[in-house]
Amino acid sequence: MFDYHVHSLFSADSKMKLTEACDAAIEAGVKEIAFTEHIDYFYPNCDLIFDFDYEDYAKAIDEVQEQYKNKLTVLKAVEIGIHPFKHKENSMFTKANYFDFIIGSVHLADDQDLHNGDFFKGKNVNEAVENYFLTINQYVKEFSDFNVLGHLTLIKRYLHFVNAHWTEVNWRNYNEIIEDTFKALIESERGIEINMSGYRYRIDCALPDLPLIKLYKQCGGEVITVGTDAHSKHFVGKHLDLGYDLLRQAGFKYVTTFRERKPKFVLLSDL
Ligand SMILES: [Zn+2]
Ligand SMILES: [Zn+2]
Repeated sequence: MFDYHVHSLFSADSKMKLTEACDAAIEAGVKEIAFTEHIDYFYPNCDLIFDFDYEDYAKAIDEVQEQYKNKLTVLKAVEIGIHPFKHKENSMFTKANYFDFIIGSVHLADDQDLHNGDFFKGKNVNEAVENYFLTINQYVKEFSDFNVLGHLTLIKRYLHFVNAHWTEVNWRNYNEIIEDTFKALIESERGIEINMSGYRYRIDCALPDLPLIKLYKQCGGEVITVGTDAHSKHFVGKHLDLGYDLLRQAGFKYVTTFRERKPKFVLLSDL
C-alpha cells in the first residue's frame, strides 16, 4: 500500500518527525509515503502559518530517502490550499519547486474556515453543503496546478457545527455539481484522492466515500490515490486498507502513484 497524504513537522499543524512517520509506515506495511506538507497562503482567523521552507524540506527528504532506501519509497509532495486570492502564488510555488505529487485542497468556503466553524454561521445544513460543493467546483476550474483534489466531502467532518451528522444528508442532491467537478478534473488529467481522516475524526467514513468514488469512475475517472492525512505516527498507514477496499468495490483495477508529477498505475492485484 501507498500512503499518499502525510504531514510531518514541516506542516504547521504537525510535530511528527520524518523518521517517525517512515518507521510507522514500514510498521504498517506501507511501501511508499508522500509527505504532503501544507501550503495555505490564505487562512483567516488562524494563528498557524501554513508555509514551509522548500530548501530545508527537500534536504530533509533527501536524507530520509537515503536512510530508508530499499525499505520505503519517500516522495516530495505538497498539499496546496486553493483560494482565488492565491492562485498566482500557488502556481509560482509549485512551478519553482520540485514535487513528485501535489494535492489541491479546499479548506475554506465563503472565505471562511470549515475547521473552526466560521463558515457555518447563519447557514442551514443544505446551504452549507451546497455552498461547499459550488466553491470547490469554481476553484477546481480556476486553478489546475495539482494532481489530485484533496478530501472531497471534507465538510462531513464539521457538520456538528450545524447540529447534523453526514448520514442525515442526502448527498445525491449534489451529484450534478460533483459530476461537473469530476469532469473538469478528468479533462485536465487530474484526479481525486480517497482520504481516510474521517476515521480519525470518528465519523467512520472515507472522504469521499463509495457512492462518490463510483460516480467518479462512471465519469471516466482513472487517477486516484489513497492517503491517511496522518499528522501523527499513530495514523500513518491507518485505515489505508479500507481505502483500498473502496477502490476495489468501485471497480478500480489500479491505484495511482506519482513520480515527477506524472501518474503511474499500479495493479491492485499486485499489492
Ligand atoms: Zn487538507
Ligand atoms: Zn492534509
